[in-house]
Amino acid sequence: MDTFICFRGNECPTLSAKTDSLKDSRKTPRSSGRETGVKIHAPSMVVFSACTARHYQWNAYDLGVRFLVVDIGGTKSALGVVDNGVLTEYQTWQHAGESDAAVVRSMLAEQLMELKRPVAACGVSFGGSFDFIQQTCGRSFHVSGWESFPLKAWLSEVVQAPVLCDNDANVAALGEYERLAGENSESLMYVTLSTGVGSAFVLNRAIWRGAHSLAGEFGHLDVGHSNMCSCGQTGCLERAVSGYWLQRDLDEPAAGILENEERFLDWTDVLAQGLWAAVTLIDPAVIVLGGGMVAQGERLQSRLQQLLRDRAALTNRPEPRVELGDSTGRSVLIGAGLLAKEALA
Ligand SMILES: [Zn+2]
Repeated sequence: MDTFICFRGNECPTLSAKTDSLKDSRKTPRSSGRETGVKIHAPSMVVFSACTARHYQWNAYDLGVRFLVVDIGGTKSALGVVDNGVLTEYQTWQHAGESDAAVVRSMLAEQLMELKRPVAACGVSFGGSFDFIQQTCGRSFHVSGWESFPLKAWLSEVVQAPVLCDNDANVAALGEYERLAGENSESLMYVTLSTGVGSAFVLNRAIWRGAHSLAGEFGHLDVGHSNMCSCGQTGCLERAVSGYWLQRDLDEPAAGILENEERFLDWTDVLAQGLWAAVTLIDPAVIVLGGGMVAQGERLQSRLQQLLRDRAALTNRPEPRVELGDSTGRSVLIGAGLLAKEALA
């Protein structure tokens, strides 16, 4: 007998219908005395047979759609299990100030060994530049020793399953795309506002990575100032608005700086200038804001939406919708689940 598990519990309409009818069947035992296929393990997890809701069901035993998802960050990492698009397990750990990639890898391998559960495939978000074609790491802002590391090859050995990796912005964009699916988001721009500034694009329902895995270098768009960026150019958006440079220039944490209304307005003006350049090129339906500086919340969202609306009105065109991204970090893992699915293809 095939057995399916639904982790959405009462949110699953098919499950609710099933459990209701099964309660009824228990009131009237069958002549065989069997109550096949039904076990209530917990309020949110029910094992039952012959579920007909395609998007909720997965075969728990052939492991066809159980994906391991990993998020390797600069200061912390996370892993989880995605079952048919639903994050069912989640754990995160700090790197404890560790700045050596070999030690971070060792921590990750230890966590993966503890999981000890077979998976169909593994999707990975890497917090730094990443060569998607070669599946090798580039530079990480916080941790040294990742450069040219063959992440896919190494993890394939560790988890004994197909693996596919990408940079964190691309993976987060995939996760947000999944989260917003059905809300006019066939084209989506994801922007990270954090220590640095980056972006990713979902165009025609796929990540656009560019010829050299370098698409979305939004932070190094020239917005016309004369300060030197860490990339060697002057005028970069990141040099003007990133958390790192705000703090370095003004000797105060970025969050404190942006509490000042005048500085907040100046900051969003420059940010909108960069966003508008991207909008004129890509024409995304939605811009999703992610990263630590999105803690500015609705204040940031509404201000950027208004600035883009003002610019759009000048040229009589629609502006993209501005959305705040998921702040829990879990959308990245959902995106990694989609990568894992691609690894199986
Ligand atoms: Zn730059």
